[in-house]
Amino acid sequence: MLIAIGTLGAIAATPASAQALRADTPPTGPIGAQASILTVTDARGDDLAGVRARFERGEGRRSRHAVISAGIDAPATWLAWQVRNPTDAPVARRLGVDNPWIDQLDLYQVTPGQAARHWHTGDAEPQASRPVAGVNFAFDLSFPPGDTALYLRARTADPLVLPVHLESVAQSAARQSQTDFLQAFGYGYLVALIGYNLLIWAGVRKRSHLLYSTYLGSFVLLNLAYTGYGYAWLWPAHPGVQRYIILILMVAFSIAGLMFALRFLDMRRHAPALRRGVRRACVAAAAATGLCVAMGAQGLTATLAFVVICAFTPTMLWLGIVALRAGHAAARYFLAAAGAGTAGTLITALAVLGAIPFTPWTFHAAQFGMLTDATLLALALAHRFRLNDADRRRAEALARTDPLTGLLNRRAFYERADAAWSTAARNDRPLAAVVVDIDHFKRLNDTHGHTTGDVALAEVGRVLASTARRGDIVARWGGEEFVVLLPETDEHQAARLAERLRRQIHALELATSDDTPIRLSASFGVCSRTGLDSLDALIDTADTHLREAKQAGRNRVVSARLAPLACDATPRA
Ligand code: GH3
Ligand code: MG
Ligand code: MG
Repeated sequence: MLIAIGTLGAIAATPASAQALRADTPPTGPIGAQASILTVTDARGDDLAGVRARFERGEGRRSRHAVISAGIDAPATWLAWQVRNPTDAPVARRLGVDNPWIDQLDLYQVTPGQAARHWHTGDAEPQASRPVAGVNFAFDLSFPPGDTALYLRARTADPLVLPVHLESVAQSAARQSQTDFLQAFGYGYLVALIGYNLLIWAGVRKRSHLLYSTYLGSFVLLNLAYTGYGYAWLWPAHPGVQRYIILILMVAFSIAGLMFALRFLDMRRHAPALRRGVRRACVAAAAATGLCVAMGAQGLTATLAFVVICAFTPTMLWLGIVALRAGHAAARYFLAAAGAGTAGTLITALAVLGAIPFTPWTFHAAQFGMLTDATLLALALAHRFRLNDADRRRAEALARTDPLTGLLNRRAFYERADAAWSTAARNDRPLAAVVVDIDHFKRLNDTHGHTTGDVALAEVGRVLASTARRGDIVARWGGEEFVVLLPETDEHQAARLAERLRRQIHALELATSDDTPIRLSASFGVCSRTGLDSLDALIDTADTHLREAKQAGRNRVVSARLAPLACDATPRA
């Protein structure tokens, strides 16, 4: 908004003690150190005539910093520059204020012999009122030969930080496109991570992935808001939204971060009292922010938002340390991530507050921190995902094996044996079953103890497993009974295998304390698929033959179609 005002600049009002800038060769970088500064607390005299008089009386002060910074809800701050054009032609320059949240900005250009020119803008005005469209504020100026004075008035309830540049339009555009590129890269990266985690959440319903996406999403929104892209693209006609959105998002981002941390670090288990405290603090922060916004107290909201975001950093680290002490597996990742993310947030907050120098690096530190944070946390989530997966596999494997012998249990036997039966039946291939029962096992238990009985079971299991071929299905059927299912094996071959097993079991020697080793024997029932119509019938028939083997004196192999195989010793155990 350009307003020509009536004050004639009789002299190029030289802002006292300010060193003149060259319009043709302006310095690169912010020009705060070349300005003369005046803070106006009283509404009277807060106009061009008033401040010019004061500058001329030498009331302006100088800053050592290239970027002027005056803190939250500071009084109106005036900066004055003297600009000299030593050439004999006008020079066009753009004055840029790289801050999107100043509520009111007034620029006056005072040229000797001409009416002062005045532009009024600020984020209290709709985007369309900007002299130069863009995410930050800019003014296109023409400097005639000789001396010109610039007076810039800034007033905001938010932190007042003024990175002012004087440069050519091309330089300004180049700087902006560099920033745009870095921002776009950051957004792309974060949005990809958000999408990825939302997909995982949709798939496995793990709340930590949803909370993580919310945390990243709130950062993206906050970043869009405080870098000015939000106002430029998303709510350009709503200065009312712009007044509070950055502050509200600062609080929302902090709360989202803490909610994610509580969940991710399993604080319900590790530190329930701390978790309750953090949740209450979050509710209080949200309520207080809502109240301040409802009251229209912008300065108070800003103070509150900065208090919340500065408390957010140590709280995240504290939660990480508590989880680490409690032995949480991913707490290390979390601490590294939260360290990077919150340190970045803190640096940006401190730079904006003027506590540390404001440079593009300190201003964008939150973004670099968040990219690191997001990357490390994505790795941590993937790591935890993998651990869960490994746990599940282990649990599944345990549910399928008999702990004493390491063989399949009965349930797992059926899973695999059903498939083997179907394949054999469909292709009309041979299939045989061998059922094994240790002889007089009760006696062994009674004489030598249950522990020795367990050793005997494990040994027999080892013999069965080591003699079976790949594809054979060996299971502990229960107690001291085992079953071996043999695909591609006819009754004859199965009986031969059973006989080999019988000999091996009989050759086992179990050590005892009194130096007389225990010898075992087992009885075998063998049956083939021929003429049978189910797996159960196969096993039942083999079991019937096993009973026959027991009745016939134990330590022998019995099958339907073959004569009982001879035994070479009396049954033992
Ligand atoms: P038979 O020759 O007729 O098979 O006689 P047996 O004593 O072997 O048969 P019985 O079925 O009477 O006894 C089986 C014994 O196996 C009884 C039970 O205590 C024991 N047993 C079952 N499971 C286990 C186990 O896991 N460990 C040990 N040590 N013993 C077991
Ligand atoms: Mg037995
Ligand atoms: Mg038995």
